[in-house]
Amino acid sequence: MEEIRQPMISMKNVTYSYHSLKGETPALKDVTFDVYEKEFICLVGPSGCGKSTLLSLLAGLIEAESGELISEIKDVGYMLQRDYLLPWRTIYDNVALGLEIQHKKTTENRERLREMLKTYNLADFANKRPSELSGGMRQRAALIRTLALEPDLLLLDEPFSALDYQTRLEVCDDVAEIIRKEGKTAILVTHDLSEAISMGDRVFVLSKRPATILKEIPIRFETENLTPFHRRQAPEFAGYFAVLWEELQKASAG
Ligand code: ADP
Repeated sequence: MEEIRQPMISMKNVTYSYHSLKGETPALKDVTFDVYEKEFICLVGPSGCGKSTLLSLLAGLIEAESGELISEIKDVGYMLQRDYLLPWRTIYDNVALGLEIQHKKTTENRERLREMLKTYNLADFANKRPSELSGGMRQRAALIRTLALEPDLLLLDEPFSALDYQTRLEVCDDVAEIIRKEGKTAILVTHDLSEAISMGDRVFVLSKRPATILKEIPIRFETENLTPFHRRQAPEFAGYFAVLWEELQKASAG
C-alpha cells in the first residue's frame, strides 16, 4: 500500500492585508497550497505582489487575516540577499553566532560546525574575515550559520540577486547541494525564471497584488538529481521556461 504523505505546511484560502493610516493594502488573497518535507518550492510573480508577505506568514512573523495555516514548522531559517556576516568576526565565529546567541555552543555543535565547514569547503577559511572571501563563499557561510540552528524550513528571499552572473550560477549549485545533503525543505522567492526551474521541485506563479496562486508547475527532469547548472542544459529546460514565461506574462497583465 502506498504511504500517504502528510504535508508539512498546509495553507487554505489565506488572506492578508496591511493596515496603515493611509488605508488598507491587500497583499494576499485566497492562497492555498501544501508543502511536503524535503520539497523545494519556488515562488515567482510580479514585483510587489506579496511574495515576501507570504514568507513572513510562513515564518510566523504575521498572522493570516482569514483562512487556515496548518504548519508543523518549529524553527525557520532565512537566507537573504545580503549575507549579514559581521566583518570583525572570523568565518567560524560568524557561523557560530546563532548558536552563541541561543546558548547552544556545545562541544557537539562546535564539532558539527567544523564538519560542515569542511564538507562545504570553507575549513581553510575558518579563521579568515568575511572580506577575505568571495561573494559566493560568504553566501555559503551565511547558509551554514542558518543551518547550524537546524531549522525545519528554509526561506530563501532572493538570496542570489546581489551576486554577479557567474557567481550566481556557482552559488545556486552550492546551495542546492547543501539543501539536498542536509535534507531540508526550502521555499525560494526569485524573479529569475531560470533559477526557479533549475532549483525547484514545484514552481508557483503568483498573480499581481493581492497575490494568489495562479499556477503550480511541477518540474521533472528525466535524469534525477541534476545540479541546477546541469538542469539548465537538459532538454526539458526550454519547455519549462516557455510555459513559465507565458504564465508570468499572464500574471503581470491580469
Ligand atoms: P514582493 O515580495 O512580491 O515584492 P511584498 O510582500 O514585499 O511583495 O509586498 C506586497 C505589497 O504589500 C506591496 O505593495 C508593499 O508595498 C506592501 N507592503 C509590504 N510591507 C508592508 C507594510 N509593512 N505596510 C504596508 N504595506 C506593506
